[in-house]
Amino acid sequence: MSEFLTGKGYQVFGLVRGQNNPKAQLVQDENPSLELVEGDLRDLSSLIAALEQVQPDEIYNLGAMSFVALSFRQPELTADTTGLGVLRTLEAVRIVGGTQNNPIRLYQASSSEMFGKVRETPQTERTPFHPRSPYGVAKVFGHSITVNYRESYSMHASSGICFNHESPRRGLEFVTRKITNGLARIKLGLQDSITLGNLEAARDWGYAGDFVEAMWLMVQQDEPDDYVIATGETHTIREFLDLAFRCAEIDGWESFVRTDPRFERPAEVDVLCGDAAKARERLGWKPRVTFEELVRMMYESDLAEEAARAELDR
Ligand code: GDP
Repeated sequence: MSEFLTGKGYQVFGLVRGQNNPKAQLVQDENPSLELVEGDLRDLSSLIAALEQVQPDEIYNLGAMSFVALSFRQPELTADTTGLGVLRTLEAVRIVGGTQNNPIRLYQASSSEMFGKVRETPQTERTPFHPRSPYGVAKVFGHSITVNYRESYSMHASSGICFNHESPRRGLEFVTRKITNGLARIKLGLQDSITLGNLEAARDWGYAGDFVEAMWLMVQQDEPDDYVIATGETHTIREFLDLAFRCAEIDGWESFVRTDPRFERPAEVDVLCGDAAKARERLGWKPRVTFEELVRMMYESDLAEEAARAELDR
Protein backbone atom coordinates (compact mmCIF):
# COMPACT_ATOMS: atom_id res chain seq x y z
CA MET A 1 0.00 0.00 0.00
CA SER A 2 2.73 2.44 0.96
CA GLU A 3 4.65 1.62 -2.20
CA PHE A 4 1.55 2.25 -4.32
CA LEU A 5 0.78 5.57 -2.60
CA THR A 6 4.41 6.73 -2.76
CA GLY A 7 4.29 6.00 -6.49
CA LYS A 8 1.29 8.34 -6.74
CA GLY A 9 3.26 11.14 -5.06
CA TYR A 10 1.77 10.78 -1.57
CA GLN A 11 3.75 11.47 1.57
CA VAL A 12 3.10 8.23 3.46
CA PHE A 13 3.18 7.68 7.22
CA GLY A 14 3.10 4.22 8.77
CA LEU A 15 1.85 3.46 12.26
CA VAL A 16 4.23 1.33 14.34
CA ARG A 17 3.32 -0.18 17.68
CA GLY A 18 5.53 -1.26 20.57
CA GLN A 19 8.82 0.09 21.82
CA ASN A 20 11.05 -2.00 19.56
CA ASN A 21 8.93 -3.49 16.79
CA PRO A 22 11.07 -5.87 14.69
CA LYS A 23 8.98 -5.17 11.58
CA ALA A 24 9.77 -1.42 11.63
CA GLN A 25 13.16 -1.83 9.97
CA LEU A 26 11.70 -4.26 7.45
CA VAL A 27 9.04 -1.85 6.19
CA GLN A 28 11.50 1.02 6.28
CA ASP A 29 13.93 -0.97 4.09
CA GLU A 30 11.15 -1.81 1.62
CA ASN A 31 10.06 1.82 1.34
CA PRO A 32 12.75 4.28 2.46
CA SER A 33 10.49 7.32 1.98
CA LEU A 34 7.93 5.95 4.46
CA GLU A 35 7.79 7.95 7.70
CA LEU A 36 7.07 5.89 10.78
CA VAL A 37 4.83 7.22 13.53
CA GLU A 38 4.23 5.68 16.95
CA GLY A 39 0.75 4.38 17.70
CA ASP A 40 -1.22 1.27 18.65
CA LEU A 41 -4.72 0.18 17.58
CA ARG A 42 -5.30 -0.84 21.20
CA ASP A 43 -4.69 2.69 22.52
CA LEU A 44 -7.07 5.46 21.45
CA SER A 45 -4.95 8.32 22.79
CA SER A 46 -1.98 7.13 20.73
CA LEU A 47 -4.15 7.19 17.59
CA ILE A 48 -5.38 10.70 18.34
CA ALA A 49 -1.78 11.83 18.90
CA ALA A 50 -0.69 10.22 15.60
CA LEU A 51 -3.52 11.94 13.67
CA GLU A 52 -2.76 15.30 15.28
CA GLN A 53 0.89 14.94 14.35
CA VAL A 54 0.39 13.79 10.75
CA GLN A 55 -2.85 15.61 9.82
CA PRO A 56 -3.58 13.00 7.12
CA ASP A 57 -5.96 13.41 4.20
CA GLU A 58 -6.54 9.66 3.95
CA ILE A 59 -6.19 6.72 6.33
CA TYR A 60 -5.87 3.11 5.20
CA ASN A 61 -6.54 0.80 8.14
CA LEU A 62 -4.90 -2.47 7.14
CA GLY A 63 -3.82 -3.07 10.74
CA ALA A 64 -5.04 -6.22 12.46
CA MET A 65 -4.11 -9.49 14.03
CA SER A 66 -4.64 -11.03 10.62
CA PHE A 67 -3.98 -14.77 10.99
CA VAL A 68 -7.15 -16.87 11.35
CA ALA A 69 -5.43 -19.84 13.04
CA LEU A 70 -3.93 -17.64 15.78
CA SER A 71 -7.29 -15.97 16.39
CA PHE A 72 -8.61 -19.27 17.83
CA ARG A 73 -5.74 -19.31 20.34
CA GLN A 74 -5.84 -15.56 21.13
CA PRO A 75 -9.48 -14.59 20.59
CA GLU A 76 -9.53 -11.67 23.02
CA LEU A 77 -6.41 -10.06 21.54
CA THR A 78 -7.97 -10.52 18.10
CA ALA A 79 -11.23 -8.86 19.16
CA ASP A 80 -9.27 -5.98 20.68
CA THR A 81 -6.94 -5.29 17.74
CA THR A 82 -8.92 -6.44 14.70
CA GLY A 83 -12.36 -5.40 16.02
CA LEU A 84 -12.10 -2.61 18.60
CA GLY A 85 -9.05 -1.20 16.78
CA VAL A 86 -11.44 -0.10 14.01
CA LEU A 87 -13.74 1.63 16.51
CA ARG A 88 -10.75 3.46 18.02
CA THR A 89 -9.57 4.54 14.57
CA LEU A 90 -13.05 5.86 13.74
CA GLU A 91 -13.22 7.65 17.08
CA ALA A 92 -9.81 9.24 16.47
CA VAL A 93 -11.01 10.42 13.04
CA ARG A 94 -14.24 11.74 14.55
CA ILE A 95 -12.33 13.64 17.24
CA VAL A 96 -9.47 15.00 15.10
CA GLY A 97 -11.60 15.21 11.98
CA GLY A 98 -9.44 17.08 9.49
CA THR A 99 -10.73 20.44 8.26
CA GLN A 100 -14.39 21.01 7.48
CA ASN A 101 -13.69 21.39 3.77
CA ASN A 102 -11.23 18.56 3.78
CA PRO A 103 -12.39 15.84 6.19
CA ILE A 104 -10.18 12.78 6.71
CA ARG A 105 -11.18 9.89 4.46
CA LEU A 106 -10.91 6.35 5.78
CA TYR A 107 -10.47 2.95 4.19
CA GLN A 108 -11.29 -0.09 6.33
CA ALA A 109 -9.91 -3.50 5.37
CA SER A 110 -12.89 -5.82 5.71
CA SER A 111 -12.51 -9.48 4.85
CA SER A 112 -14.07 -12.37 2.95
CA GLU A 113 -13.68 -14.30 6.24
CA MET A 114 -16.87 -12.46 7.27
CA PHE A 115 -18.77 -14.73 4.84
CA GLY A 116 -17.33 -17.85 6.52
CA LYS A 117 -19.91 -20.60 6.12
CA VAL A 118 -21.15 -19.04 2.93
CA ARG A 119 -24.87 -18.42 2.39
CA GLU A 120 -24.54 -18.06 -1.40
CA THR A 121 -21.95 -18.31 -4.16
CA PRO A 122 -20.43 -16.11 -5.40
CA GLN A 123 -20.43 -13.68 -2.47
CA THR A 124 -21.44 -10.06 -3.07
CA GLU A 125 -21.84 -6.94 -0.89
CA ARG A 126 -25.36 -8.19 -0.06
CA THR A 127 -24.44 -11.73 1.03
CA PRO A 128 -25.19 -12.26 4.77
CA PHE A 129 -22.21 -12.82 7.06
CA HIS A 130 -21.56 -16.06 8.96
CA PRO A 131 -18.01 -15.81 10.33
CA ARG A 132 -16.27 -19.02 11.39
CA SER A 133 -13.39 -17.74 13.54
CA PRO A 134 -12.70 -15.07 16.18
CA TYR A 135 -10.89 -13.25 13.36
CA GLY A 136 -14.00 -13.33 11.14
CA VAL A 137 -16.20 -12.18 14.03
CA ALA A 138 -13.85 -9.27 14.80
CA LYS A 139 -13.88 -8.27 11.11
CA VAL A 140 -17.70 -8.26 11.10
CA PHE A 141 -17.58 -5.83 14.04
CA GLY A 142 -15.01 -3.64 12.24
CA HIS A 143 -17.12 -3.66 9.09
CA SER A 144 -20.40 -2.89 10.87
CA ILE A 145 -18.96 -0.10 13.01
CA THR A 146 -17.50 1.51 9.87
CA VAL A 147 -20.96 1.47 8.24
CA ASN A 148 -22.43 2.83 11.46
CA TYR A 149 -19.98 5.78 11.69
CA ARG A 150 -20.58 6.55 8.03
CA GLU A 151 -24.34 6.68 8.64
CA SER A 152 -24.15 8.41 12.06
CA TYR A 153 -21.51 11.08 11.40
CA SER A 154 -21.47 11.32 7.58
CA MET A 155 -17.89 10.11 7.57
CA HIS A 156 -16.16 9.32 4.30
CA ALA A 157 -15.47 5.75 5.44
CA SER A 158 -15.38 2.88 2.92
CA SER A 159 -14.85 -0.85 3.38
CA GLY A 160 -13.20 -3.19 0.94
CA ILE A 161 -14.42 -6.74 1.50
CA CYS A 162 -11.18 -8.22 0.29
CA PHE A 163 -10.77 -11.86 -0.61
CA ASN A 164 -7.35 -13.45 0.02
CA HIS A 165 -4.60 -11.37 -1.51
CA GLU A 166 -1.08 -12.71 -1.73
CA SER A 167 2.41 -11.72 -2.86
CA PRO A 168 6.02 -12.67 -2.19
CA ARG A 169 5.68 -10.54 0.96
CA ARG A 170 2.98 -12.78 2.46
CA GLY A 171 3.88 -14.16 5.90
CA LEU A 172 5.26 -17.71 5.96
CA GLU A 173 2.39 -18.86 8.19
CA PHE A 174 -0.20 -18.45 5.39
CA VAL A 175 -0.78 -21.48 3.19
CA THR A 176 0.29 -19.94 -0.15
CA ARG A 177 3.67 -18.73 1.05
CA LYS A 178 4.17 -21.83 3.20
CA ILE A 179 3.81 -23.87 0.01
CA THR A 180 5.97 -21.71 -2.29
CA ASN A 181 8.71 -21.32 0.31
CA GLY A 182 8.66 -25.03 1.22
CA LEU A 183 8.72 -25.93 -2.46
CA ALA A 184 11.71 -23.65 -3.15
CA ARG A 185 13.57 -25.36 -0.29
CA ILE A 186 12.64 -28.80 -1.66
CA LYS A 187 13.92 -27.76 -5.09
CA LEU A 188 17.23 -26.64 -3.53
CA GLY A 189 17.54 -29.84 -1.49
CA LEU A 190 17.13 -27.98 1.81
CA GLN A 191 13.89 -29.67 2.88
CA ASP A 192 12.14 -33.00 2.19
CA SER A 193 8.47 -32.20 2.58
CA ILE A 194 5.77 -29.65 3.46
CA THR A 195 3.29 -30.34 6.27
CA LEU A 196 -0.17 -28.83 5.83
CA GLY A 197 -3.70 -29.10 7.26
CA ASN A 198 -6.93 -29.29 5.23
CA LEU A 199 -6.10 -29.63 1.52
CA GLU A 200 -9.75 -29.45 0.40
CA ALA A 201 -10.29 -25.76 1.32
CA ALA A 202 -10.77 -23.43 -1.64
CA ARG A 203 -10.00 -19.73 -1.84
CA ASP A 204 -10.36 -16.84 -4.27
CA TRP A 205 -6.68 -15.82 -4.31
CA GLY A 206 -5.62 -12.54 -5.92
CA TYR A 207 -2.46 -10.44 -6.10
CA ALA A 208 -2.04 -7.88 -3.29
CA GLY A 209 -0.58 -5.32 -5.72
CA ASP A 210 -3.87 -5.31 -7.65
CA PHE A 211 -5.96 -5.08 -4.49
CA VAL A 212 -4.28 -1.94 -3.10
CA GLU A 213 -5.32 -0.09 -6.25
CA ALA A 214 -8.97 -0.94 -5.48
CA MET A 215 -8.53 0.37 -1.91
CA TRP A 216 -7.18 3.67 -3.21
CA LEU A 217 -9.94 3.96 -5.84
CA MET A 218 -12.64 3.60 -3.16
CA VAL A 219 -11.19 6.49 -1.18
CA GLN A 220 -11.16 8.72 -4.29
CA GLN A 221 -14.93 8.36 -4.91
CA ASP A 222 -17.30 11.23 -4.08
CA GLU A 223 -19.42 8.88 -1.96
CA PRO A 224 -18.08 6.29 0.50
CA ASP A 225 -19.35 2.72 0.06
CA ASP A 226 -18.56 -1.00 0.49
CA TYR A 227 -17.06 -3.09 -2.28
CA VAL A 228 -16.18 -6.76 -2.73
CA ILE A 229 -12.65 -7.07 -4.11
CA ALA A 230 -12.00 -10.51 -5.58
CA THR A 231 -10.88 -12.31 -8.73
CA GLY A 232 -14.06 -14.40 -9.13
CA GLU A 233 -11.98 -17.60 -9.48
CA THR A 234 -11.68 -20.22 -6.79
CA HIS A 235 -9.01 -22.91 -6.35
CA THR A 236 -8.38 -25.61 -3.77
CA ILE A 237 -5.10 -26.03 -1.86
CA ARG A 238 -4.60 -29.17 -3.98
CA GLU A 239 -4.81 -27.08 -7.16
CA PHE A 240 -2.36 -24.57 -5.71
CA LEU A 241 0.06 -27.41 -4.94
CA ASP A 242 -0.37 -28.91 -8.39
CA LEU A 243 0.40 -25.64 -10.14
CA ALA A 244 3.29 -24.69 -7.84
CA PHE A 245 5.01 -28.06 -8.27
CA ARG A 246 4.59 -27.76 -12.02
CA CYS A 247 6.34 -24.34 -11.90
CA ALA A 248 9.21 -26.07 -10.07
CA GLU A 249 9.17 -28.92 -12.63
CA ILE A 250 8.74 -31.52 -9.89
CA ASP A 251 6.34 -34.39 -10.61
CA GLY A 252 3.86 -35.81 -8.10
CA TRP A 253 3.43 -33.26 -5.30
CA GLU A 254 1.62 -35.94 -3.26
CA SER A 255 4.95 -37.55 -2.34
CA PHE A 256 6.23 -34.27 -0.88
CA VAL A 257 3.18 -33.18 1.12
CA ARG A 258 2.21 -34.53 4.55
CA THR A 259 -0.86 -33.58 6.53
CA ASP A 260 -1.11 -32.98 10.27
CA PRO A 261 -4.34 -32.21 12.18
CA ARG A 262 -2.28 -29.56 14.07
CA PHE A 263 -2.80 -27.29 11.06
CA GLU A 264 -6.57 -27.83 10.91
CA ARG A 265 -8.94 -25.29 12.46
CA PRO A 266 -11.76 -25.82 14.98
CA ALA A 267 -14.18 -24.42 12.37
CA GLU A 268 -13.23 -24.12 8.71
CA VAL A 269 -14.16 -21.79 5.86
CA ASP A 270 -14.56 -24.36 3.10
CA VAL A 271 -14.86 -22.30 -0.05
CA LEU A 272 -14.81 -18.62 -0.95
CA CYS A 273 -15.52 -17.00 -4.30
CA GLY A 274 -16.21 -13.29 -4.70
CA ASP A 275 -18.19 -11.31 -7.24
CA ALA A 276 -16.46 -7.94 -7.76
CA ALA A 277 -19.02 -6.66 -10.32
CA LYS A 278 -19.73 -3.50 -8.28
CA ALA A 279 -16.01 -2.60 -8.07
CA ARG A 280 -15.69 -3.27 -11.79
CA GLU A 281 -18.66 -1.06 -12.69
CA ARG A 282 -18.20 1.82 -10.23
CA LEU A 283 -14.45 1.90 -9.72
CA GLY A 284 -13.39 0.57 -13.11
CA TRP A 285 -11.25 -1.95 -11.20
CA LYS A 286 -10.23 -5.40 -12.33
CA PRO A 287 -7.41 -7.71 -11.27
CA ARG A 288 -4.45 -7.91 -13.66
CA VAL A 289 -2.34 -10.78 -12.34
CA THR A 290 -3.77 -14.27 -13.00
CA PHE A 291 -3.71 -17.17 -10.52
CA GLU A 292 -0.98 -18.89 -12.55
CA GLU A 293 1.15 -15.74 -12.62
CA LEU A 294 0.69 -15.25 -8.88
CA VAL A 295 1.81 -18.79 -8.01
CA ARG A 296 4.82 -18.50 -10.31
CA MET A 297 5.75 -15.06 -8.96
CA MET A 298 5.69 -16.33 -5.37
CA TYR A 299 7.61 -19.52 -6.16
CA GLU A 300 10.30 -17.72 -8.16
CA SER A 301 10.76 -15.08 -5.49
CA ASP A 302 11.13 -17.77 -2.81
CA LEU A 303 13.55 -19.72 -4.98
CA ALA A 304 15.77 -16.66 -5.47
CA GLU A 305 15.60 -15.74 -1.77
CA GLU A 306 16.34 -19.26 -0.51
CA ALA A 307 19.16 -19.74 -3.04
CA ALA A 308 20.78 -16.46 -1.93
CA ARG A 309 20.46 -17.47 1.73
CA ALA A 310 21.94 -20.93 1.04
CA GLU A 311 24.84 -19.27 -0.80
CA LEU A 312 25.52 -17.01 2.22
CA ASP A 313 25.47 -20.01 4.56
CA ARG A 314 28.08 -21.89 2.53
P1 GDP B 1 -7.12 -17.55 5.45
O1 GDP B 1 -8.04 -17.83 4.30
O2 GDP B 1 -7.03 -16.11 5.82
O3 GDP B 1 -7.38 -18.42 6.63
O4 GDP B 1 -5.64 -17.88 4.87
P2 GDP B 1 -4.64 -19.11 5.13
O5 GDP B 1 -3.61 -19.04 4.05
O6 GDP B 1 -4.13 -19.10 6.54
O7 GDP B 1 -5.55 -20.41 4.96
C1 GDP B 1 -6.22 -20.70 3.77
C2 GDP B 1 -6.80 -22.10 3.84
O8 GDP B 1 -5.73 -23.03 3.80
C3 GDP B 1 -7.59 -22.41 5.11
O9 GDP B 1 -8.78 -23.08 4.74
C4 GDP B 1 -6.68 -23.34 5.89
O10 GDP B 1 -7.37 -24.27 6.71
C5 GDP B 1 -5.99 -24.06 4.73
N1 GDP B 1 -4.71 -24.68 5.13
C6 GDP B 1 -4.38 -25.99 4.94
N2 GDP B 1 -3.17 -26.22 5.45
C7 GDP B 1 -2.72 -25.06 5.98
C8 GDP B 1 -1.52 -24.69 6.66
O11 GDP B 1 -0.62 -25.50 6.88
N3 GDP B 1 -1.40 -23.38 7.04
C9 GDP B 1 -2.39 -22.47 6.80
N4 GDP B 1 -2.20 -21.20 7.17
N5 GDP B 1 -3.55 -22.80 6.17
C10 GDP B 1 -3.70 -24.07 5.78
